[in-house]
Amino acid sequence: MSDITNRGYAGKILHLKLSTLEYEVIPTEKYVEWGGGNGMGTALYWDFCEDKTIQDGRDEKNVVVIATSPLCGTATPSAGGRCEIVGTACGLYPESFFSRSNIGGRLSSMMKYAGWDAIVISGKAPKPVWVEIQNSLVRYHSAEALWGKDAHETQLRLFGILDRKNEGWGWQPLPGKGAGDSGYTTQIPAIAAISQAGERLQTMAGILHDAGNISGQGGFGAVWGSKNLKAISVLGTGAVKAADPAALIRARFKVKERYAPDVQKPDLLAWSFLSYPKPIAFAGDYDQSRRSACVGCVMGCRQRFSTGVGNQVKCQASAWYLAYIKKYAKKHPEEIDLNNEKQIVEISNYAADLCNRYALNTYLFQHALPWLEGLWHRGLLGKGKQVPSELDFDKLGSKAFVKEFCEAFAFRKDIGALFGDGFVHGVIKLGLEEDYKNGTLDFPYWGIQEHGYDPRAEVEWGYASILTDRDVNSHEFNQLYWNISIYTLMGLKPRISAEKLVHLIAEKLKPYVDGPECMDFSEENIYSDAVLNLTRWYIHYNRFWKNSALFCDLRWANLFHSRGDDAGNEGATGDPEVGEQVYWNAVTGENISIVDGLKRGYRVIVLQNAIWALQGRHRDKVHFADFIYEKPFEKGEFPFYMWTVRDKEGKWRYGDIMHRKLDREKFEDFKTRYYLAEGLDPKTGWPTEETLKKLKLDFAIDELKEHGKLPESNAS
Ligand code: SF4
Repeated sequence: MSDITNRGYAGKILHLKLSTLEYEVIPTEKYVEWGGGNGMGTALYWDFCEDKTIQDGRDEKNVVVIATSPLCGTATPSAGGRCEIVGTACGLYPESFFSRSNIGGRLSSMMKYAGWDAIVISGKAPKPVWVEIQNSLVRYHSAEALWGKDAHETQLRLFGILDRKNEGWGWQPLPGKGAGDSGYTTQIPAIAAISQAGERLQTMAGILHDAGNISGQGGFGAVWGSKNLKAISVLGTGAVKAADPAALIRARFKVKERYAPDVQKPDLLAWSFLSYPKPIAFAGDYDQSRRSACVGCVMGCRQRFSTGVGNQVKCQASAWYLAYIKKYAKKHPEEIDLNNEKQIVEISNYAADLCNRYALNTYLFQHALPWLEGLWHRGLLGKGKQVPSELDFDKLGSKAFVKEFCEAFAFRKDIGALFGDGFVHGVIKLGLEEDYKNGTLDFPYWGIQEHGYDPRAEVEWGYASILTDRDVNSHEFNQLYWNISIYTLMGLKPRISAEKLVHLIAEKLKPYVDGPECMDFSEENIYSDAVLNLTRWYIHYNRFWKNSALFCDLRWANLFHSRGDDAGNEGATGDPEVGEQVYWNAVTGENISIVDGLKRGYRVIVLQNAIWALQGRHRDKVHFADFIYEKPFEKGEFPFYMWTVRDKEGKWRYGDIMHRKLDREKFEDFKTRYYLAEGLDPKTGWPTEETLKKLKLDFAIDELKEHGKLPESNAS
């Protein structure tokens, strides 16, 4: 193979040894077989984390990896600007396992331009530090003056420090170069920073980059805080070389030609993530704004406002407080005018901005806040109550309340202290375990919140979440739910019939599935081998194409396209001209198929299962919270949950799959078949020696054996 620096890789990995404030440079070659991102990060974690039995990411022995892919910094559509963060997480229940998070923006591309494929962070700095990376120059600086600052202010201060000409950003000399030297750049450093929440080891703390790119899940802000790491700044002036740049650009133009919407005539019914014509922000417009995107994205799902408040938030984070504002406005018209959209959105963006500033995971609030409100109304939360709090929930929905609420979590005080080590941990300590078991607190897997797609209905989401390590947050099948729900709400006939849709999708999942049965989400079929194989495809796709090659979840996988013209409803995934593998091959010079990538994803998930086994995972822990088996799902975004189902006569239709629960025994049987299909031991869920050897993961065998985590005999 040719020099990897001509094939998308930077060629070097940086290992920051925080305990001694030293660093080493590791050649990337050994890790190229993992692709990048999640796979590369997992392999680096395996090599550099000496004690893989840790069960809390805030343990000093934890290792965190920030990993890019060959596609980062290139023109690959919606894959040039994502970045994967892996390591042992915190805040999960019953224990915190090795997990992952992902952020967009400029960080990953800047790492590549600076010459780094990944950054491995180990140990704990004796005092707070920030790290300056400028091409190959790496320097540690004291962060004592930054400690106590939020993530926006930290970045602003570092921009000031790094602006060595003190003229505002323009042409900047690179360090060590003088005036007139060629070492100048107009690039602005990409900075990732934590807030006060991370410093206080608050498990809902993330890492923020630029205005609104946050690593939401996993509590990696607290992991950095536990390591006394306040920020990393990266400035690069190099480039990423692709093996076949012309092929890359051809495919990019082609994908736009086929899928890009006409922004003058947005077609909201053409819901398909490659072509959604608007920023995915739900609170509405209240002032001038323009679109904002991660490096290389063909669409740009975010926006920046002329006010600068709420910049770059998208999706749920853009409107997590909105419903409370409207409810409050109804009761307090003297304070908030329900008809004044500008005022409502201004408060909503203010709430979103607070979460950016403090780098807080808004998804935890999505289900925790209604539960807390419920405790207030039940008389269990308040001054001197079972859940002691100074917060006045009668003010929930106001600007003042959201400030106090976010500050409680950012500064780990009041309820922020009670739930600082994880919501379910707090719930149990406070004697409210029943609320967790019965679903009053809607946290179905690993002690974290449901995403809006309940596992009792949207089983692929639930199965993939519980069979891995976190809310899977991956929308390729979920597009269908949104698409059909919107048609149903509007009383329209869907553009694609259920019959056609299931065939379109099944075609994309070959050879994992051999027909459309996998798309029958009726109660009779959700434990079938067909759905099991769809779940395996989903996990493997995620682990390679999405989390390792770093195709953005909001655009890929693209399994169908519901446009209204006659260009067809084929999605881009796996397409010989515009599929994921086309970009991968153009950049890396490889010649792999979409299925080859899935096989790589399989290898990654098996290695992760080995890590989870060392961390105490056993199949007995792999189950949903009790309410998922005991109570039917009755309340979602809409009063129905539309999906494809097949009726008794074998006819496909769109049907409501909402009002049901999962069957514990059938799910246990599903798990057994999943473990067998994945080459994991069905009694424990641990990888077997045979599977490890087959996948060339022999290096894991001794460590598993040493800890008594290698199943005694191969599964059958
Ligand atoms: S769709 Fe949004 S999050 Fe994804 S790469 Fe594009 S701008 Fe970034």
